[in-house]
Amino acid sequence: MKVPSDAMIPIADARRMVWSTCERLNTIALDHAQAVGRVLARDVVAAENVPPFDNSAVDGYGVRAADVSAAPVDLAVIDTVAAGAASSRTLQAGEAIRIMTGAPIPGGVDAVVMVEDSERLENNRVRLSKVAEVGAAIRHAGSDVRAGEVVFRAGTVLNAAAIGVLASINARTVEVFARARVALLSTGDELVIDGSPLGPGQIRESNLTMLDELIRHTGCELINLGVVRDDEAELERVLRDVSTRCDAIVTSGGVSMGDFDVVKAVLSRIAEMQWMQLAIKPAKPFAFGQLRAADGRTVPIFGLPGNPVSSMISYELMARPALKAMMGHERTERTRIAAVAAAPLRRKRDGKVHYMRVFAEFGEDGRLQVRESGPQGSHQLAATAMANGIAVVPDGDGVPEGGAVEVFLLD
Ligand code: AMP
Ligand code: MG
Repeated sequence: MKVPSDAMIPIADARRMVWSTCERLNTIALDHAQAVGRVLARDVVAAENVPPFDNSAVDGYGVRAADVSAAPVDLAVIDTVAAGAASSRTLQAGEAIRIMTGAPIPGGVDAVVMVEDSERLENNRVRLSKVAEVGAAIRHAGSDVRAGEVVFRAGTVLNAAAIGVLASINARTVEVFARARVALLSTGDELVIDGSPLGPGQIRESNLTMLDELIRHTGCELINLGVVRDDEAELERVLRDVSTRCDAIVTSGGVSMGDFDVVKAVLSRIAEMQWMQLAIKPAKPFAFGQLRAADGRTVPIFGLPGNPVSSMISYELMARPALKAMMGHERTERTRIAAVAAAPLRRKRDGKVHYMRVFAEFGEDGRLQVRESGPQGSHQLAATAMANGIAVVPDGDGVPEGGAVEVFLLD
């Protein structure tokens, strides 16, 4: 899709175009313990039952349910079995076996009475004060995971519990999508990154620090190239060099209409670029392109605007979902919630969707209430830092107090 560089394009069209261009990464076999946050590329079939054998859910006494139906009853304690051991005895009428949580259920036992409902008597006898149904406090083999079943489908995002499950079924290695290696660089000769005093017209670099964290949080590996100076040959060399060892490139700055800086000149020459004006505020300027690496791969380039808030919104809306999709995620978006404006969300009609930084919290009515987290200028990152959500305010006059608004949650 070729778009005229001066016309604003709807965000949905831009997203479709960018996302359809970004291809999924390869899959790799990974130790299950290293796989947290990864997306499964293949179904995982359980090779073992969990638990592997019937065992006790409590510390107590293994009994025949029939024997305790007239509780309280006194029974002879014939053995004790701990977790990791097994009883060689088979329970007969009138007998009980002391059993610990996780210990295998001995033969003849069909219920366990918890220790809290027992009283030890003389001569290895016990008084049980509660009735127990057949199967009481017994955890059956395969009641968590059954051998042969698909425990996780391809596409599952492995969280901490999931890698625990993989350990429980002895799935030592799993096939997952590779993490995207993302090269990040910032441009602009006004930027000071090393803490030295600001000269005339200079500002502190802040996007690298922010984007570094956002990219890592997306689940990517980062190659932080720092600030690239105003030198076409140097920038070209840096980009070509990194393209053979990264899966995507994120740049900050130099993509606005008025810009005729190094990034624009170099990218236009070495990559297939689209310089866009998105119908959104902030983050109207955005560039997307593909760089052909020396090894033949096509590396997507996300050109984010330099204004810090724009940079962040642009990353959230355009780059983050694309990177997630490349890493196999089926759900690439932040959680979206229907909220209520606690105060008016004011805006003017300008043909753009406004992404307003808001603070969201649950009101007494149980509904999510949002208010602006502070001033909404595209350079005012401090107000964005106080936001936990982004309200999507369509073109028009804004949202009145009490009005419905869609919000995506940042944390
Ligand atoms: P640009 O997108 O390069 O035209 O920059 C737009 C505005 O954002 C200018 O005021 C820049 O000084 C500022 N800016 C650009 N890059 C950064 C950065 N990495 N950190 C902080 N501010 C920046
Ligand atoms: Mg610039």
